Amino acid sequence: MLNSRQQQCLRGIGISQWRERGTGEADTRQESAIEEPLSAQDLADIGQFIGGSPNAEQAPQPIPVEAEASSAVDVVLPPLDNWDAVTGSITHCTACELAQHCTQKVPGVGDIQADLLIVGEGPGHDEDLRGEPFVGRSGQLLDRMLAAIGIAREQVYITNIVKCRPPNNRDPKVDEAQRCRNFLEAQIKLIKPRVILAVGRVSAHNLLDSNLPVGKLIRDMHRLPGSDIPVKVTYHPAYLLRNPSAKAIAWQDLKLLHGLLQ
Ligand code: SF4
Repeated sequence: MLNSRQQQCLRGIGISQWRERGTGEADTRQESAIEEPLSAQDLADIGQFIGGSPNAEQAPQPIPVEAEASSAVDVVLPPLDNWDAVTGSITHCTACELAQHCTQKVPGVGDIQADLLIVGEGPGHDEDLRGEPFVGRSGQLLDRMLAAIGIAREQVYITNIVKCRPPNNRDPKVDEAQRCRNFLEAQIKLIKPRVILAVGRVSAHNLLDSNLPVGKLIRDMHRLPGSDIPVKVTYHPAYLLRNPSAKAIAWQDLKLLHGLLQ
């Protein structure tokens, strides 16, 4: 005859109970009297009862720290409905491997009520050190481009597709951009920009869900998928520094942008 704890242990692992004929009523009372959850000792008892003493394989295993870290990508984020939540979540994010390489997170900078949102691809060396997007030579050129249409850097919001620096300035991988997408979408919802300027290939491809060459995407105005927000694509300042002849095209983009913001 099984005692009450043994019966509970069996139910806990889904084993149907054997009952002697004619003893059902007494057994039912016993079952209903046992309601507390299984303890560690109960689980150990199960191991002994179903055959053999519990060993390392049968005993409940602690969750390895590494497994907890890697499963962080599946952790449900708090609602990203205010700036503190967004920047706090970015600061503590370990959802992709880029978190292991960067000096610090680079959420974005500028006016959180800006009409113009500028989205680059990811922090580079200088941005990683400063914690601010588009600094260094590329940033200075971007500032001059904006100034040419009468916009100061402080009047726009600037961010990137990924908030951590990819090692050796490589392109962000598809899954890295996807895992960081929550943050960009939250920023777009909070800012409610009138226009988005996608700077460079990685930004354009991710924002527009397209694989067309930047040279083609530049020719047309686009809309952010799932929204009415116009998206203008232009060359990355780093590309313009290497290819000055492309500045004439970028100037046309800026003039169009200026018109959209009037
Ligand atoms: Fe998180 Fe984005 Fe940094 Fe990846 S790049 S760790 S998703 S903040």
